[in-house]
Amino acid sequence: MTERSWWGWGRTDAALDDDACRELAATRVRPFLPLSGTLLPVPAVPPLPAPRIRPPARVVAATDDVSRAGHAYGKAYRDVVRALHGDVDHPPDAVLYPAGEEDIERTYGWAAANGVAVVPYGGGSSVVGGVEYRGGGPWVSLDLSRLAAVSEVDSVNLAVRVQGGVYGPALEDALRPHSLTLRHFPQSFEYSTVGGWLATRAGGHYATGYTHIDDHVAALRVLTPAGVSESLRVPASGAGPSPDRLFLGSEGILGVITEAWLRVRRRPAYTAATAVRFESLTAGVAATRTVAQSGLLPSNCRLLDPVEAALQAGVPDGGARLLLGFEGADAPVDAALARAVEWCRDAGGTPVAAPERWRRGFLRAPYLRDALVRLGLVVETVETACTWDRFEALHAAVCDAVAPALVTCRFTHVYPDGPAPYFTVLTTGGLSTWDGLKAAASDAIVHSGGTITHHHAVGRDHRPWYDRQRPGPFATALRAVKSTVDPHGVLNPGVLI
Ligand SMILES: Cc1cc2nc3c(=O)[nH]c(=O)nc-3n(C[C@H](O)[C@H](O)[C@H](O)COP(=O)(O)OP(=O)(O)OC[C@H]3O[C@@H](n4cnc5c(N)ncnc54)[C@H](O)[C@@H]3O)c2cc1C
Repeated sequence: MTERSWWGWGRTDAALDDDACRELAATRVRPFLPLSGTLLPVPAVPPLPAPRIRPPARVVAATDDVSRAGHAYGKAYRDVVRALHGDVDHPPDAVLYPAGEEDIERTYGWAAANGVAVVPYGGGSSVVGGVEYRGGGPWVSLDLSRLAAVSEVDSVNLAVRVQGGVYGPALEDALRPHSLTLRHFPQSFEYSTVGGWLATRAGGHYATGYTHIDDHVAALRVLTPAGVSESLRVPASGAGPSPDRLFLGSEGILGVITEAWLRVRRRPAYTAATAVRFESLTAGVAATRTVAQSGLLPSNCRLLDPVEAALQAGVPDGGARLLLGFEGADAPVDAALARAVEWCRDAGGTPVAAPERWRRGFLRAPYLRDALVRLGLVVETVETACTWDRFEALHAAVCDAVAPALVTCRFTHVYPDGPAPYFTVLTTGGLSTWDGLKAAASDAIVHSGGTITHHHAVGRDHRPWYDRQRPGPFATALRAVKSTVDPHGVLNPGVLI
């Protein structure tokens, strides 16, 4: 059996070895950025401070260094680079593995009595400091991986009842024999969980239609320290504010999402895809807007700027690329693709073969990111959504803010009223370089009318900008909810409020 990496993405055996890192540097990085040539070694777990607390009785717990180090951080650049340098100063005092709701209730009671913070942990793929407690006191990481049942597949009503700790592949494995799919594929799919998706309002990789996990929720069961909140499972309801909406995006501060009913669909039987080349990003944006507003709902509608097309898709011809794809369970989708291509031609685009490397590289990308960090690069992403009329100014503001770093842009999702731009920033330097760039880019986004996050969540890293953007009365109401359902403030302190 292969191990999960304690410091980087995924499995240890899937990471790039030293030779592959050097080849990556020579072939794909040096043409764009200078490199020192030093390769940081794969780190051993550093000695950790001793646990300050004894875990609660009757809940399975681990206090060994590997478990604690592996739960200390999420998987952002700032997490990977700190782990690589052996900087794991504030690990959880213990990792708890509840078998069910009783264990979680026990944990809440024990944490309130002992002044311990409890941080829910799904797959740990947070890129916003969501699973890392930054207060000084003792804390535990509540690893939900034993809440791993896909309890019921309802083929009549097209829904699945699933526990919060179920990982993406396990859910799809359970749905496949029924010819069903959730069709929610974040890039972190392999190592993230249903509960994590719901708690962060994750975005799947489909570009239009059902983009966020929110769109799939039929009902939620949430165990708060004040008791269970379980919503009614109905196709739709207009009965007051939605309880599900309260817990979607609650990032582990109100309770643990222990179970959900999610709406699923029949697996697609028909697909059609192509790419379209544009002379510039601006030309591609105009065509993408037309497609997004057409009502055709392509499953893929990903616009890559010329540098992104060169670096990520391996097509260095100076043009932007729009990757277009359609899929359907019921009937061929070629006509829809043909119609979208026609609009792209009208906007000056030329249909070309879909780049193979983009598809292959999507799930490998996090391993490449880790390799680049070992090579001494800052490599991280910044994402947002804005209305179409604001995109050009927002794009210029973000590029200015991070200059002279290399920055690429793609649209991960598109809506009739605007795109979700996703910037990748690459430069030399270290964590302080990134912290400066991140603050400048976030300021630029907020000043330009974009959200501080389209799908990466708020966590601890986006707090200053989130606080500025949310309405005052809403912030007051959220605080009131928190103090009602978590009166001792044990759950994920520092996130959202
Ligand atoms: C390489 C990479 C690619 C990514 N791609 C995407 C992407 O395409 N789309 C996207 O949306 N995000 C993406 N992310 C971000 C991340 O994967 C998502 O935020 C994901 O939803 C987190 O799920 P998780 O199970 O790993 O949760 P964790 O990281 O463990 O937790 C995230 C937050 O949710 C809380 N939480 C976790 N489980 C529960 C639960 N059951 N009940 C209550 N609270 C809980 C935690 O306390 C924390 O605040 C990516 C991250 C990486 C590293």
